[in-house]
Amino acid sequence: MKTPSIPPRAGLRIPSLPRDRRSAKRHLWVPRRPPLSPFPVLSLCFGRLTILSFVKGPKGPLHFFLLLGLLLANPSCSGQTQPFKETRFMMGTLVDVVVYAGKETAPGAAGQAFERILQVEAAAHPSEEGSPLFQVRQGKGARLGGDLARILETAMHVSRAASGAFDPTLGEVVHLWGFGRDDPHLPAPKEIQQALDGTGYKRVPVGQCCPEKLDIWFDLGGVAKGYAVDAAVSVFQEAGVKAGIVNAGGDLRTFGVRPGRGYWKIGVQDPENPQELAGVLEVKEAAVATSGDYQRYFEEGGIRYHHILDPATGYPAHTGLRGTTVIASDCATADALATAVFVLGPEKGLDLLEKWDGAEGVLITEDGKILTTSGIGEEGIRFEER
Ligand code: ADP
Ligand code: MG
Repeated sequence: MKTPSIPPRAGLRIPSLPRDRRSAKRHLWVPRRPPLSPFPVLSLCFGRLTILSFVKGPKGPLHFFLLLGLLLANPSCSGQTQPFKETRFMMGTLVDVVVYAGKETAPGAAGQAFERILQVEAAAHPSEEGSPLFQVRQGKGARLGGDLARILETAMHVSRAASGAFDPTLGEVVHLWGFGRDDPHLPAPKEIQQALDGTGYKRVPVGQCCPEKLDIWFDLGGVAKGYAVDAAVSVFQEAGVKAGIVNAGGDLRTFGVRPGRGYWKIGVQDPENPQELAGVLEVKEAAVATSGDYQRYFEEGGIRYHHILDPATGYPAHTGLRGTTVIASDCATADALATAVFVLGPEKGLDLLEKWDGAEGVLITEDGKILTTSGIGEEGIRFEER
């Protein structure tokens, strides 16, 4: 992997991209729970984290989801005001929304936010026959507009800054490994090489994508979930909801001031023992996303193969990291950066984050060390190791 080439900036920081905004309306109301004393709160919250922290796939514990944000997903953590809370299964994970708003606003807005997530999920799915991504994959050409254009814009922004460590053109290779399906398996080296031949972030034209004859198999799995979180947050904001959190299996975004506390608490999973926490992040308004080798994997011949691929080899990336948590102003960027940093490894990964405007990170190495960027501990972001 080459050293990440960073586009010039005023100084050195890479600017974030503008995000999408939408409007909203109605749904379900969760009754208030009795307030608890501050002491049981933590254990109760941790208990919830344990319960929800993994979903078993059909062939065993292949799918380790959900990690972050659950400390605040429990209404008992809310301080003075009780939040509205709803959880649904979508985008292959549990999506939690917790918002502080009246019952005349919150349920409807949540319903609209979930609808919006479904919309993004459908747009970003690469195998939907007749869809723009499917057309591009077949070399038929298609104009990628709306959500797709914005997802791709973020993906390519990160991809270029990370010299291709994040690569949204890996579709065929991801498909070959079968991650996200019921039959993940180790492909033959020749198959991997063949699939790799059609990939490459440099194949994506700068500007409007994608003209005819450009057969690219996009996989937006490393960025679309974060974008969907941003889109859901926009729905709440347009509906006038002042504060809350949207958490899609650990890729999350907080907005507004958390009533009574200011900071939102987010648990960072321990990759070695994903039901435990490596530490707790406290953020104000921010997006937080995590990539890890413990989230989706299978074992064959005693070797563990996880779902974050090194675009240079087509095999799972092994660069000394087990988990990367990135804090940024929008979740699509945090999501893509977390994947990029995982592939880059500790040194180049930290370097990328230090140069990225508004991004910070908590990196957990293979030998259990926790590395943080220089902005952690400053105003707005705290991190405490467990
Ligand atoms: P999760 O989807 O579990 O939140 P990530 O955000 O790290 O995890 O995204 C991993 C997904 O991104 C993979 O399942 C695959 O679809 C895709 N992917 C894998 N490796 C890369 C890569 N190097 N660059 C871009 N996308 C990738
Ligand atoms: Mg990601």
